[in-house]
Amino acid sequence: MKINHENNIKFYSTNKESPSVDLREAVQNGLAPDGGLYMPERLPKLEDGFFEHLEGKPFTDVAFEVSKHLFSELDIPECTLHSMIRAACNFDVPLVEVDKDVYALELFHGPTLAFKDFGARFMAQLFGYYGKEANEKITILVATSGDTGSAVANGFFGIEGINVVILYPSGKVSPLQEKQLTSMGGNITALEVQGTFDDCHKMITKAFVDENLKQSMKLASANSINIARLLPQIFYYVYLCSQLRKAGKPIVVSVPSGNFGNLTAGIIAKQMGAPIDKLIASTNENDTVPQYLRSGVFNPKPSIDTLSNAMDVGNPSNFARMLELYGHDLEKMKQDISGVSFSDAKVKEVIAQVFKQHKYILDPHGAVAYLGLRNYLKDHHDSVGVFLETAHPAKFFEAVEQVIGASVPMPERLKKYTNQKKQATLLRNDFSELKNFLLTKN
Ligand SMILES: *Cc1c(COP(=O)(O)O)cnc(C)c1O
Repeated sequence: MKINHENNIKFYSTNKESPSVDLREAVQNGLAPDGGLYMPERLPKLEDGFFEHLEGKPFTDVAFEVSKHLFSELDIPECTLHSMIRAACNFDVPLVEVDKDVYALELFHGPTLAFKDFGARFMAQLFGYYGKEANEKITILVATSGDTGSAVANGFFGIEGINVVILYPSGKVSPLQEKQLTSMGGNITALEVQGTFDDCHKMITKAFVDENLKQSMKLASANSINIARLLPQIFYYVYLCSQLRKAGKPIVVSVPSGNFGNLTAGIIAKQMGAPIDKLIASTNENDTVPQYLRSGVFNPKPSIDTLSNAMDVGNPSNFARMLELYGHDLEKMKQDISGVSFSDAKVKEVIAQVFKQHKYILDPHGAVAYLGLRNYLKDHHDSVGVFLETAHPAKFFEAVEQVIGASVPMPERLKKYTNQKKQATLLRNDFSELKNFLLTKN
């Protein structure tokens, strides 16, 4: 396989007011200085024969082959890349046939039982590598309303040279989520803020521009728009194609979407040459993108609370990336993506029905994707469909058990949190408390 080592992919800002940077800077900056999101300047093409070669290969092999196209020797040496992928993707990614030509790609077998483990763990590896190379100690600040914080904490746990400080709103995350955030210890510190998620976010924003802090430590952000979280999500789209290509049918992938990072990775995979016929943007009642696909008007709204709460986003930030990938051409976007949204009532109904008919337990997020897929397959009988299952149903057992009338088996790694001890420092909603903590305790 021929790989061009000289010509590494640069990343430009979607606002086009900041210079293009290489991978390292894009990862360490998170957001571009002009407030835009980083995007690759070009997409590598998966060559002819790529898929034949990978048929039946394990997930990490596929991930490695894809990443060799995305990252050059200049970005990360190949042997380092290999060990990073093995460390980040150290869990199964089963493709489960739920019904004839309907598959669940289960992305929830990582340590926090949600697909965010892919992005967070790979990002942590990149931060660790670049920090070690420069011999820098880095403090990562994250604000979380729940799942992102635990995925990030798990990803960074034990990575040398990095401390992670998580801020979460007191009393506003579920008891299990709180245990996941606060019981890790080691290089992970949890701060319980007497305020809302927005307050946590504001405190962090202030920290990044504070002169005293800047002088005494290197702070970095691990927020959801970091390109390092997006890129590893391309791996599983290519993987599912490598597994299903032999069916010889058009492949359709339904993506349960909130902030649209997952779907954006799917578009990139398709544009790199993965044989995906159609992507379905499946949402709950936060339907800003499906509405855009219908009307051509992007009308962000405040978010609505739903059962699939990790998708309660009214103004998806990755939309800017989607526009870039289609040159701001709605018609082109519509050729690749179809959008559809569903109510909680429909979600509950389908969770019950799929359990009854197929003995498969959907979580509320995967259920939205399943609905989107079924809706599409009604008029496309010749396709093979995959819906992305992004969370383990046990994470939402209260809602799911009520609907299916049976208990959801609790995986060991989730159970173990319930016995662990919460370790968190209580902070008032006051920036000076955070600053003081960082300067003295960290
Ligand atoms: C974050 C999340 C989503 C939404 O993914 P986006 O990339 O933000 O569209 C879907 N399901 C689960 C379980 C999530 O945690």
